[in-house]
Amino acid sequence: MVCLACQEKINYVDYKNTDILRKFVSGQFKISSSARTGLCQKHQRMVANAVKKARFMALMPYTKLQTLKK
Ligand SMILES: [Zn+2]
Repeated sequence: MVCLACQEKINYVDYKNTDILRKFVSGQFKISSSARTGLCQKHQRMVANAVKKARFMALMPYTKLQTLKK
């Protein structure tokens, strides 16, 4: 299967775009494996690094326990 990000010719994943990053984490906010995301190694690493940066900048939670109950 061809990587979606390669098809879109994406060469940068913005860590501020949490709507997109949310698609690449599980319900527990764990980073999904490349088997699940269908990304190539290059783009999987890009997404994983963006998620880690978003967590550090407090744009995304590290675990589900950090989310606010509504
Ligand atoms: Zn790719």
